[in-house]
Amino acid sequence: MEYTPPLTHRAAAQLGVSVEKFTNWRWQMRHQCQTLDDLQGYLALSPTEQQGLTESQALFRTGVTPYYAALIAQTDPALQEALRLQVIPRKEEAFDALGIYDPLSEVDHSPVREVVHVYPDRVAFCVAMLCPVYCRYCYRKRRDEETGLHYNRQIIDRGIAYIASQPSIRDVLITGGDPLIASDAAVEELLQRLRAIPHVEIIRIHTRTPVALPYRITNELVEMIQRYHPVWVNTHFNSALELTPEAGEALERLVNHGIPVGNQSVFLRGVNDTVEKMHDLCRSLVRFRVRPYYLFHPHLVAGTAHLRPSVQTGLAVMKGLRGKLSGLAIPTYVLDTPSGKVPLQHNHMLGQDEQDLLLEDLHGEIWREKGVW
Ligand SMILES: *Cc1c(COP(=O)(O)O)cnc(C)c1O
Ligand code: SF4
Repeated sequence: MEYTPPLTHRAAAQLGVSVEKFTNWRWQMRHQCQTLDDLQGYLALSPTEQQGLTESQALFRTGVTPYYAALIAQTDPALQEALRLQVIPRKEEAFDALGIYDPLSEVDHSPVREVVHVYPDRVAFCVAMLCPVYCRYCYRKRRDEETGLHYNRQIIDRGIAYIASQPSIRDVLITGGDPLIASDAAVEELLQRLRAIPHVEIIRIHTRTPVALPYRITNELVEMIQRYHPVWVNTHFNSALELTPEAGEALERLVNHGIPVGNQSVFLRGVNDTVEKMHDLCRSLVRFRVRPYYLFHPHLVAGTAHLRPSVQTGLAVMKGLRGKLSGLAIPTYVLDTPSGKVPLQHNHMLGQDEQDLLLEDLHGEIWREKGVW
């Protein structure tokens, strides 16, 4: 990297490591903050975070890249909450009466355990469970033991064999965990094997690395990926604060190599649950040529009661975006169910009056569209 963005520059200097080291994604993973002490090297932790870090570890492990920890540390303290809530456990994780471990009953929908086949034409293929950060709301918390942390030949062979045996599958989402926490060679082998299946038309990679480990998106990686086109990437920004120059560089690299990038956010209390925050996030994404794709209403995942806003709030936020943002920047608000994603939408169609269609316009007024409907 010739130009070093300020966050990277400052963080490396504070740690006393070279920029070259700090921007090496393997170094970042080796130094992932997993304990209270690790995180305290970057941040002053609140009492509820300290308690969360000591008591909630049994529920789901903690992991924060030095990059993301530095991002939190360098963000205005008044705004940090939106980042902290995503990755630092709180004592509230232990107080969730409703949350369950597999809210999508993915286990029932997995013909082989790592391939989730809900729709006829597409599957989610969970290849490995390592992540750059462990999002406290993750609904795949329980998958660890089944899939394993690292790419594993047996799992991949079995998934590939299943996909090859089902000619209706045209679209494979490679997910996890984060499938880019692996060597370029391992990712390439996977892409190669999927490309060798004639009925697989498109491949999608779901990764949070542009958000939490942007240094993973190297030139070598994108040059390799582009040999297996059409490959799409879906990433997972939840807050405009995450769209740093480092993240921008990663996104630009992907898009410049012909990889369309979409974004899937999760609707989270304290993170993006206001019109203003969602507006900033979506507008920032399109500036980086990233299309806001889905906004997921959070599931009843164990340990997330404090992060789940109501569906009413979600509908109000989405309604607030319409008219203020280009349609390009507006994601579809959905709830994922065991049988697929269901859109959650404010209904603007009020009904019919004789031959006319009655619509609620963006100012809340009734518009009567004349004609035969
Ligand atoms: C979300 C999802 C897909 C992809 O759905 P799209 O709407 O095409 O993005 C495929 N399979 C499973 C199991 C999913 O959860
Ligand atoms: S990156 Fe994805 S799979 Fe990993 S913890 Fe976050 S939501 Fe879960």
